[in-house]
Amino acid sequence: MRPIASRISVMSGEGALSVFARAKELEGAGRSIIHLELGEPDFHPTGAVNDAAKRALDEGKDRYCPVAGVPALREEIVRYLRDTRGVNTSASNVVIAPGCKIGLFMAMMTLVNPGDEVLYPEPGFPAYRSITQGLGGVPVPFELAERNHLQPDPDEMAAKINPRTGVIITNSPGNPTGTVYTDAVQRRIAELAVKHDLFLLSDEIYARIIYDQSYISMMSYSGMEERTIIIDGFSKSFAMTGWRLGYNVAPASVVPALEMLVVNSYTCVNEFIQYAAVEALRDRDGHTPRMVAEFERRRDRFARELNSIPGFRCAPPQGAFYAWVNIADTGVAAEELCRIMLEEGGVAAIPGAAFGGAGKDFVRFSFASSIATLHEAVERIRRVSPAWERTAVTK
Ligand code: PLP
Repeated sequence: MRPIASRISVMSGEGALSVFARAKELEGAGRSIIHLELGEPDFHPTGAVNDAAKRALDEGKDRYCPVAGVPALREEIVRYLRDTRGVNTSASNVVIAPGCKIGLFMAMMTLVNPGDEVLYPEPGFPAYRSITQGLGGVPVPFELAERNHLQPDPDEMAAKINPRTGVIITNSPGNPTGTVYTDAVQRRIAELAVKHDLFLLSDEIYARIIYDQSYISMMSYSGMEERTIIIDGFSKSFAMTGWRLGYNVAPASVVPALEMLVVNSYTCVNEFIQYAAVEALRDRDGHTPRMVAEFERRRDRFARELNSIPGFRCAPPQGAFYAWVNIADTGVAAEELCRIMLEEGGVAAIPGAAFGGAGKDFVRFSFASSIATLHEAVERIRRVSPAWERTAVTK
């Protein structure tokens, strides 16, 4: 049989999904598993959002609709971005996608030529590297190192830019580290993008899940409006993972290319879901801030409890809902540690190398679970920790 296209062999899966598959297998065999591997809020959208979806269906909003998305949603996104992060854009710059990841995929299809270098954060969301490779581009990681408080180092980025560089990807707050890029770092990144005439993909999916500070979009910096594509969606900030709804905010010069890709792939996004999303966005002060306040309580307590495990070190993240734990002092490799926690302790978490080599000494735990469940997870880890306690370096 003829082989399939070679681009597939250079792409990679997601560590979270393979840990999830094994955790499910153990559950199927009767084991109790605490799932801290997936990046999925344990909340659901409000009744008003569900009602809006039902109403839209009853009104017959179940047809093909405009390629870039229904005007009501695109206009509401413009108001939402202005009110929640000071971004000034217009509905004609918004293209709706079935999920943030497809938005990312479309944006990268639009911007990356074979041989182009793409600067992306590492540890980082695995799709950045995988999609770049799938498109024949060259992934060039910039490190979020502990010595820099998990912030990007603009000097490192500057040194990695050359005539083949086409795109920078940023992700603040970031998965898996929870880093919220500082204003100073973002300003320097923006200057680099302008100086070298680069596009910038700003993955802002966690922009609303941020603690003790306000959000500055990469699009807000001088010279960035014409070169930034914001990628955002409803999965995290509105707890709508399974609804599959995201969007890109792109410069006018890029929008027709994105629409061309939509026409050639998904045609348009589910009409009634777009109307329900309008309802979600209008609830500026309700559901999302309540959810974020709860994440913050969990963050504080979970980080404190994790730090009591021998060899674990975790700074509370500034955004998103992941604890990024340095486990080097356990003396055990992260993969083995995760195996012990899952197989012997019934706690599913992801070895940091799933987010790139720079994450090899870390483990990612999602804290999108109740305080009681997180506490139970820490107790289970404590029970299996004698497996590494003898080798652990004491704090
Ligand atoms: N970008 C980042 C940084 C993510 O963590 C995720 C999901 O985990 C996505 C994009 C994809 O979001 P969606 O579920 O809307 O496709």
